[in-house]
Amino acid sequence: MSPAGRRTLVTGGAGFLGSHLCEALLQRGADVLCVDNFHTGTRANIAALLPHPRFELLEHDVSVPLDVDVDRIFNLACPASPVHYQHDPVQTTKTCVQGAIHMLALAKARGARILQASTSEVYGDPEVHPQPESYWGRVNPIGMRSCYNEGKRCAETLFFDYRRQHDLEIKVVRIFNTYGPRMYPDDGRVVSNFIVQALRGEDITLYGDGSQTRSFCYVDDLIEALLASMDTPAAFTGPVNVGNPAELSMRELAELVLRLSGSRSRIVHQPLPADDPKLRRPDIGLAQRELGWNPKVPLEKGLLATIAYFRALLNFG
Ligand code: NAD
Ligand code: UDP
Repeated sequence: MSPAGRRTLVTGGAGFLGSHLCEALLQRGADVLCVDNFHTGTRANIAALLPHPRFELLEHDVSVPLDVDVDRIFNLACPASPVHYQHDPVQTTKTCVQGAIHMLALAKARGARILQASTSEVYGDPEVHPQPESYWGRVNPIGMRSCYNEGKRCAETLFFDYRRQHDLEIKVVRIFNTYGPRMYPDDGRVVSNFIVQALRGEDITLYGDGSQTRSFCYVDDLIEALLASMDTPAAFTGPVNVGNPAELSMRELAELVLRLSGSRSRIVHQPLPADDPKLRRPDIGLAQRELGWNPKVPLEKGLLATIAYFRALLNFG
């Protein structure tokens, strides 16, 4: 279904994923309302969209109620990098939980369909590998990552309770590690850290022994999955995993970034942060079946595009 003629709200629309999503929605003919408090997002991310006649920006914090006329809501507002979400953990929980409550109330008031950007962090440090949606996870409720993990888990609960109590049309999408242009050079996530360090000739900071794994999805693939999820039949609620199942260790990632960037940086070890998951790879069978979706961009190609982005950003052209 084309979103043409619809007014679509994207919370967190000035962020890394949100700005790509706003752009894709405009390309598909939607009217887009971007709501953001610029906690981690930037005006630069959406600068090219501001003159667009179907794009509107509202500076607003989702932990405060909002009443706007929309018929679709993508709820992405929330800092995503561990450094950012741990900086003000109480605010992170408020954004996750109160943000979900307010956006669900808005969806109920307007009869809007609403999608939640959930996360692989709901699985915590998993004992089941790869992670299917049926796995309930292994999450520390009182650790450094809990503000985000438990906040996102509670948001999922709220989405399903609104579905049961108020018959809302919900979509819960569990996003696995995603990377690409518009990541921030200083947000502490591994892909941006390694690329920026490699380009600057600084040491590559590998946490722990580097044997922990992740599976990285290129941003363009992820946006396709979010759009496809929103357009699934009303009966499909998720939760659905979206990510690229190609898994590698952080040591392999460091070596790959060094090779692709032509850098001579050294790899140095730093302590592994608390509760850092040892393994992560999505089981995407459900997304393949229900969304008709598969990630298309191989890691090397996506990393080359991301390296080119950071080269230009950091003036290493
Ligand atoms: P990001 O930090 O770039 O974007 C988050 C955006 O939300 C920013 O623009 C920020 O200013 C805004 N925001 C934060 N708190 C807000 C509030 N209280 N009110 C209004 N706006 C607020 O992060 P991202 O990588 O673009 O992530 C977007 C969403 O996707 C998040 O919900 C995140 O949990 C989820 N997600 C991302 C990844 C990933 O790998 N990028 C993985 C799993 C889940
Ligand atoms: N990591 C690392 N060096 C860095 C940043 C992160 O080795 O400079 C590791 C981190 O310990 C984790 C993995 O890379 O095991 C992914 O970290 P990120 O913060 O990107 O995402 P998340 O842990 O939330 O998946």
